[in-house]
Amino acid sequence: MPSTHYSDAEIAAALEACAREPVHIPGAIQPMGCLVRLDSDMSRIRQVSANIENILGISVADALAGEARMVLGDELMDLLASERVKQDKSATVLTAQREVQGERRRYHVVAYPSGDDAFVVELEDQMYPEGHRLLDKVNDWLAEVRQIDDADTLLDALTQWAQELTGLERVMVYRFDEQWNGQVIAETRLAAAESFLDHYFPASDIPAQVRRLYDMNRVRSIPDASAPAIPLVPPDVPGEAAPLDMSQGVLRAVAPIHQEYLTNMGVGASLSIAMHEGEKLWGLLACHGLEPRPLEADLRDALCVLVQIAMSQLRVLRTQADTRLLHDIHDSNEILSDEMGRPLGPEGMIQRHGAQWLELLDAAGIALVTGEESSGLGTLPAEKNLVAMAGWLSRHQQHDTPWHTQALATTPLAPWQEGDLCGLLAVALPTESNHWLMLFRREQRHSRRWAGKPEDTPMMRDGKLVLTPRRSFAQWQDEVRGVSRAWRAIECRAFGDLAKTLAVLTSSHEIAQLNEKLHHANRKLKSLAYSDGLTGTWNRYRMEQAIDAELNAAERHNRPFAVLLFDIDHFKCFNDTHGHEAGDEVLVALCSVLQGILRPTDNLGRWGGEEFIVLVSDCDAVGGMHLAERLRQSTAALDLGNLGSVTISIGVAAWRPGESLKTLIARADQAMYRAKESGRNRVIAEASSITSPPP
Ligand code: GH3
Ligand code: MG
Ligand code: MG
Repeated sequence: MPSTHYSDAEIAAALEACAREPVHIPGAIQPMGCLVRLDSDMSRIRQVSANIENILGISVADALAGEARMVLGDELMDLLASERVKQDKSATVLTAQREVQGERRRYHVVAYPSGDDAFVVELEDQMYPEGHRLLDKVNDWLAEVRQIDDADTLLDALTQWAQELTGLERVMVYRFDEQWNGQVIAETRLAAAESFLDHYFPASDIPAQVRRLYDMNRVRSIPDASAPAIPLVPPDVPGEAAPLDMSQGVLRAVAPIHQEYLTNMGVGASLSIAMHEGEKLWGLLACHGLEPRPLEADLRDALCVLVQIAMSQLRVLRTQADTRLLHDIHDSNEILSDEMGRPLGPEGMIQRHGAQWLELLDAAGIALVTGEESSGLGTLPAEKNLVAMAGWLSRHQQHDTPWHTQALATTPLAPWQEGDLCGLLAVALPTESNHWLMLFRREQRHSRRWAGKPEDTPMMRDGKLVLTPRRSFAQWQDEVRGVSRAWRAIECRAFGDLAKTLAVLTSSHEIAQLNEKLHHANRKLKSLAYSDGLTGTWNRYRMEQAIDAELNAAERHNRPFAVLLFDIDHFKCFNDTHGHEAGDEVLVALCSVLQGILRPTDNLGRWGGEEFIVLVSDCDAVGGMHLAERLRQSTAALDLGNLGSVTISIGVAAWRPGESLKTLIARADQAMYRAKESGRNRVIAEASSITSPPP
């Protein structure tokens, strides 16, 4: 019947019914051993499996009527009575011998408490005479595993070893995905067995209650998938609410639906060992025999150890890879820290280091969204979409945990998804709640080969839709669309670390920028305080400071210096003739020309109005006169176009030891006054008779 005949709801209901199948209380066992159920104090036998005579040589009737010690033998009863077994809530594994009809038989025993009032003893004949051979194998495996440094090789090797050890035709590592579908990721098989490598099996093949059993009991052994189950006698224990829970044992009968499933797959014997990563079921080592096969307890145990060794090595490899990733990210964090304080902001950092981060984290694009703006590298959605995504995250997402998805289209961020960028890992910068660092991954389009569709074989039974195990494991394919590679926890952590570093960097960059502004403002303030607004020369205050400083230095080092005080001649008249603005221009032009003549160590300052001072370091009266004369000549030679020209009168005073600023300036002023009096456009040194020649 075609699957389209049924609605999704009907299929879902049937799947759910399947998931409720009470696999742990089948009321029957597999025939490879027998079961004896005692009271919790181990006094009376309440239930036995119908095949007890084959294993222990005692009839069902005798066993139920007899003493536990008579049925199980002294050796085993003494072992069971030990405190350790009684107090152990989980299964205890023992071996014991017992005389059966004149013959000594060795048993492998699994004993466990069940519910409040039952204690279960499962016995199998111990067939494997060569336990030490298995131990050697396990030791060899341990040695080999240590040499393996990648996960794929490790899992391949595990299937090879398990195949050799068990002789079963097909050994697979079956790995669960997030939806509990299983994928065969490693396989070793003999030619007679069909390959299931890379095939996907739907989650319903190993339903939740079966997965839970694997958490409790790592091994599931089915030596003969087609063997009829052996019932417990009596079927129910009087006065008991629930049937016997056999979760912890090995003999538990196979659910009919699973028997059918295995038969349809062509499997005669099946041995599965749970593979756990930490507490979580990660996968199964699934071994299939095409024919029924005894699966001895020692063999099961050896295989279990093989798997555990493999899983711990897998963990080591994973930890090594994780450490490498963190190390590389931290390395680049250190580079960032080294660059801190330099003018490159977070945007610059992303431009410089982003390519490396994209490679380490296997992503297509990285973006830093700061409020309404973004910057980034690689393939990214448009800025407005980035901003919208960050906005949604700011409103809805806790800021201290990374947000991630493999399939943006299935999230509230779907409206802003672009192209094949369907994976997103986003981390808020710890400093700003609306700043997000985002990492995008492309779609990882791949096809899955399924080993048959679960919904292909629904059937009506008693007027209700039920799922029957599919008859065909023929392949069909589907395309996985709109999904990126998953974000691993370690990648989230590494990216979070990166975000923290970038946040610090952003802050320090902002502080650096503020500092720069402050510095600039300070410089401006200073120049305002120290310079003349029109001519840009020092103002009187600054000039007084400079003369004071020079005076101190001169006192200390006995070093001469001079001041030149000059005033523009008849400037009032100039203003009156050409206007005040023209006068301003002349002041500016004159200062500019005279600045050009001075040494860098000399300074020009405006003393007031059209009166200026030149402070001349390391200079005596004669030197001062020479300089003054050059200034005078340059002024007179200054071509002011249709404004004509101006002249200046200069008074020169060389500092005398012990002299104050006030008297020094006063002497220069007197000299300048004398220059004016004696006809202007000339230089006169105070207290000396040296005057420059009149023009
Ligand atoms: P003297 O040769 O005796 O110095 O004659 P003078 O006209 O230059 O002297 P007086 O002190 O009488 O006049 C100074 C003039 O300088 C008056 C004022 O208008 C002008 N002056 C002072 N500061 C400025 C200024 O910033 N811009 C302009 N355009 N003129 C100024
Ligand atoms: Mg003047
Ligand atoms: Mg004047």
